[in-house]
Amino acid sequence: MSRYDLYAVRYPLLPLKNVVIFPRNVVTLLVGRTRSIQAVEEAMARDRRIVVTAHRDPEIEDPRPDDLYTVGTLAEIVSVERQQGSNIQVVLEGLHRVDIVQFDNTRPFYCVRAEQAHEDVVPDEEAQALIQVVRELTTRYSETKSKLNADVLEMILQTDDPSHLGDLLTTQLIAEAPRRQQFLENINPAKRLEQIAVHLTTEVEMADLESRIKNRVREQIDKNQREYYLREQLKAIHDELSGESGNEIEALRQKIASSGLPEEIADRLQKEVVRLERMPSVSAEATVVRNYIDTVLALPWTQRSDDILDLVHAEQVLDDDHYGLEQVKERIIEYLAVRKLTDEQGLTSMGAAILCLAGPPGVGKTSLGRSIARSMGRQFVRVSLGGVRDEAEIRGHRRTYIGAFPGRIVGAMKTAGTLNPVILLDEIDKMSSDYRGDPSSAMLEVLDPEQNKEFTDHFLDMSYDLSQVLFITTANSVGNIPRPLRDRMEIIELTGYTEHEKMGIGKRHLLPKQLAAHGLDAKLIDLPEKVWFRLIREYTREAGVRSLERQLATLCRKVARDVVKNQEKGKGAQARVRVSETKLEEYLGPKRFGFEQAIGEAQVGVSIGLGTTEVGGELIPVEVAVMPGRGGLTITGRAGDVMQESARAALSYARSRAEELNIPKDFQEKIDLHIHLPEGATPKDGPSAGITMATALISAITRRPVRNDIAMTGEITLRGRVLAIGGLKDKTLAAHRAGIRRLIAPLDNQRDIIKVPEKIRAEMEFNFVESMDQVIALALMSNDVIEVIPVVTIEPASEGEETVPLPIEEPATALVVDIQAEA
Ligand code: ADP
Repeated sequence: MSRYDLYAVRYPLLPLKNVVIFPRNVVTLLVGRTRSIQAVEEAMARDRRIVVTAHRDPEIEDPRPDDLYTVGTLAEIVSVERQQGSNIQVVLEGLHRVDIVQFDNTRPFYCVRAEQAHEDVVPDEEAQALIQVVRELTTRYSETKSKLNADVLEMILQTDDPSHLGDLLTTQLIAEAPRRQQFLENINPAKRLEQIAVHLTTEVEMADLESRIKNRVREQIDKNQREYYLREQLKAIHDELSGESGNEIEALRQKIASSGLPEEIADRLQKEVVRLERMPSVSAEATVVRNYIDTVLALPWTQRSDDILDLVHAEQVLDDDHYGLEQVKERIIEYLAVRKLTDEQGLTSMGAAILCLAGPPGVGKTSLGRSIARSMGRQFVRVSLGGVRDEAEIRGHRRTYIGAFPGRIVGAMKTAGTLNPVILLDEIDKMSSDYRGDPSSAMLEVLDPEQNKEFTDHFLDMSYDLSQVLFITTANSVGNIPRPLRDRMEIIELTGYTEHEKMGIGKRHLLPKQLAAHGLDAKLIDLPEKVWFRLIREYTREAGVRSLERQLATLCRKVARDVVKNQEKGKGAQARVRVSETKLEEYLGPKRFGFEQAIGEAQVGVSIGLGTTEVGGELIPVEVAVMPGRGGLTITGRAGDVMQESARAALSYARSRAEELNIPKDFQEKIDLHIHLPEGATPKDGPSAGITMATALISAITRRPVRNDIAMTGEITLRGRVLAIGGLKDKTLAAHRAGIRRLIAPLDNQRDIIKVPEKIRAEMEFNFVESMDQVIALALMSNDVIEVIPVVTIEPASEGEETVPLPIEEPATALVVDIQAEA
């Protein structure tokens, strides 16, 4: 009939009322039904083996297969004894669990095909731990309840097979047949032991509770009359034990009935309530069930907000909330327009890409998301994905875990309270995966319009419709978003702000916001433009405006203090505070970032490069030191592989140009070069530091200082060609922020110059170059500028004479000697 037939063996069946027999359990039964007696006789005539299983409903006299549980026990008949009348007394010993796979009805009694049920294997360590816990609990139980007899207790404490121990305890502790049947059907010994542990804990706690109540009541006795007391005792027990949970269950039922949930879901919850009712109310399992019911009740199933799809309104909202960002706003409006059209045609935005706002922190990604929600009249929820590495954080834990909870997406829906909120998935590039599953594949399901109509959260354990949600993602660096996710996204890049933009944002948005938060009237503070610039330049260095906002908050706090002081002094109208440049320093402390700090003096072997990071552009100074050696090249300061290669390319270029540079061809053989990238906290990599390293190297070798007012970026080839780089705008902004006004960049990047805001462009001098020769001409000063370093044009030293003193110790001497040889 099925694959079972090959393995299953036939046995007579003995149906039992209210009795569930476990393996190794020895039971004496009184058998009266003729059919049952025949089954026993048949077994005796064969191998004394018989399958026993319990009635689902003990009231039924003549059970049919449907009325019997299909998980039973194979047992051996130990003895049979005739009793008075037609009854027989049978002693049985359980052997192992079986699945009954077929009932044969051709004889007066049932014969069944039964297959041994194989139990799950419990890892040894877990088994030992569980056994330990259960033993301790059993001992406590037996102390408080003193129900177990000494032999049984002894046996329990000595059994170290988890399955056997579980069965033994079930036989001893659990009386009701349906619960015993549950234990029989559970083939995971660890789970069984856990449940036994819960049962024991509950029992012990109940006993404890009872004794505490008794104590309380006993105290009362001293004061009152005995009769009065007994009533109190009854009442107390009643209150503590049943009153509360009874009320809770009833309240839940009512709440579900009046919740307006779809019928199917309400039914499901009512079933959970029935389960809850059967559990001890203090158990961990009950907590999970309660949490489940609460979660489902709190989730939106039908509620939605009406969409406003009015582009003029949307434009207005975006403009009100954000300064500048014209192109970004335009693209958002386009995106909303497409959404509106697809919605109108009933396309449910199938296949529409997910918006991804990418850029450094503090440039307004989150607040744009919030504005989009506001413009559409939708709820807004932000879900932070930074550091999420467990799939369960997205998709929830199965409820079999103690302490299970739903995933973040369902959590967000709960917060939103509507089916169509805007959910901002923040820092999607910061998710990572490990052995606990890949959150990005769960994310893919969340974002896929074909699949998210029936999103399954493990905790909810039923499908949930996410198709009406507008998902927006944010990322610091698009490159870190897993490819399949990135393919679904429409990426809108937000780069950093210029000083002027920052001031605009500060004046129009950040300051008014902070003033309001500090209870200050805008009229009470006067912040001249000059002070604004100092605030931006000297107290912040960032692509976005987060620390500007923080500094403004500090400023407002201090101003508030002064305003109040002025008022107390009775100055009234003069309470207004003018933040002068000196006041600024008084309020915020000494400046944090020197305008010239990055630059310093023109030096030999030090050049200023530019890089881009997740938080915008930054200066990357490069230092090179020369020392006696034999051609070694060391790079320190967390440089990546690409940088190492660039350094070698720079060195090769220097060698190939030895003649023009006026250095010996084999200069490298007697020296070691050490390239260092200070500010080693952040790892740096990429080819764009090529010309910077070459410049510093050549400066160090030729002793010609590098100009201190110039920053550079560009990839270098072996033959000294300068190749294009990325992020010109960010890099230019970073240089500008640091007060550098001259820039060297590859000729191929000339077309990117339009991306640089006009105001900044006007203040910068761009030098677009094709070859390293041009870079050297622009960046290196001639060495006679600094008179103390006459390196290349050195005269041969006469015998006995000291070589010319050099600014760096030993190393350069070696170089000098070499040059003499050449000469
Ligand atoms: P992100 O999400 O990109 O890290 P936020 O959205 O948290 O940045 O922005 C930080 C703060 O700066 C917020 O208070 C935000 O309102 C403000 N902000 C950023 N850009 C602008 C802008 N263009 N106009 C007005 N406020 C802005």
